[in-house]
Amino acid sequence: AEGPGPPQASCTVDLDAIRENVAALRSRAGAAEVMAVVKADGYGHGLVPAAGAALDGGARSLGVSVLAEAFALRAAGVTVPVFAWLAAPGADFRRAIAENVDVAAYSVDQLAEISAAAAASGAPAAVHLKVDTGMWRGGATRDGWPGLVAAAHRAERDGLVEVAGVWSHLACADEPGHPGTARQLAAFAEAVEVARRAGLRPRQCHIANSAATLTLPESRFDLVRPGLAIYGLNPLDPDHDVPGLRLRPAMTLAARVAQTKRAPAGVGVSYGHRYTTTRPTTLAVVPLGYADGVPRAASERGRVLLSGRTYPVAGRVCMDQFMIDVNDAAVARGDAVVLYGPGDRGEPTALDWAHAAGTIAYEIVTRVGPRVPRIYL
Ligand code: PLP
Repeated sequence: AEGPGPPQASCTVDLDAIRENVAALRSRAGAAEVMAVVKADGYGHGLVPAAGAALDGGARSLGVSVLAEAFALRAAGVTVPVFAWLAAPGADFRRAIAENVDVAAYSVDQLAEISAAAAASGAPAAVHLKVDTGMWRGGATRDGWPGLVAAAHRAERDGLVEVAGVWSHLACADEPGHPGTARQLAAFAEAVEVARRAGLRPRQCHIANSAATLTLPESRFDLVRPGLAIYGLNPLDPDHDVPGLRLRPAMTLAARVAQTKRAPAGVGVSYGHRYTTTRPTTLAVVPLGYADGVPRAASERGRVLLSGRTYPVAGRVCMDQFMIDVNDAAVARGDAVVLYGPGDRGEPTALDWAHAAGTIAYEIVTRVGPRVPRIYL
């Protein structure tokens, strides 16, 4: 925490926006339950506040990546179902069972590890079996699926696991019309059928991320797992906007000008002198850098809003700061600089910064560093 006075930089999170985005997703999810994805510190928005807002907006459960995130939710008093889907060997499955956290099984080996933890705990683990339908990330391949299903059936019979779900993940849903998505959905339906024929009765079959929730009703099954959209960022490119959908970006990253100075024409600014002034001008120092999540790859391309105008980063983004060239604008130390926000006041959005850096909005919001205080509205 900083000393007295306003922070020199802040990451403001509008929790109402998260509530409303989840409500909008819920109304598009039909009968499917919404599991709000709050991994990676709620995509940078804060794990517990984001989870609370998502539940207020109508999410019924929470999805995270690693067990530590699930345990942090439990420690904060969250009692709704929590699913943690990524665990390396040696993960604390006993604690997951004790804290009522659903876990994923990707392979027969992993299921054996979970079963051993259940045997030691004297209580079954709630497990979602992962089938790889064509992303070639985690999960049983088509050939391995019957073996995982059979092992789960035995473990269930032995009272070691309860098969709560069957799930998968889509690789290309953010590109509507990509043929890989239809193939994955067909493979998923087949995998569910194989599991049912083998005697499993998973309550929750799920595969949809934000993009699929918004564009593919046939992907919703029993539960959808939106992440990016609950934070108000559209995973689809603008050419594929969803008619009538209003998402509001929840995060605003802002700072206050740390210093201004006059510079003559012809001076090189920041590391490597990649930017040279073309006239006598005013330079302003913005106290946020790549250690705070301002991508260095956006040097000279990312823009900020200052006193009603936008300016590009002048020269390279440094670790803790960058400069902008404001020409003769009346800018003073302490003036507010907005890097990105909802975009309704003329400020850039996280998506604009993503384009400037050659990346995706996910990476922009998840990388805001711990030095930047989160302020909740
Ligand atoms: N489900 C899983 C397994 C994920 O890894 C993620 C995030 O990458 C999501 C759901 C949410 O995806 P999105 O943020 O695109 O909605």
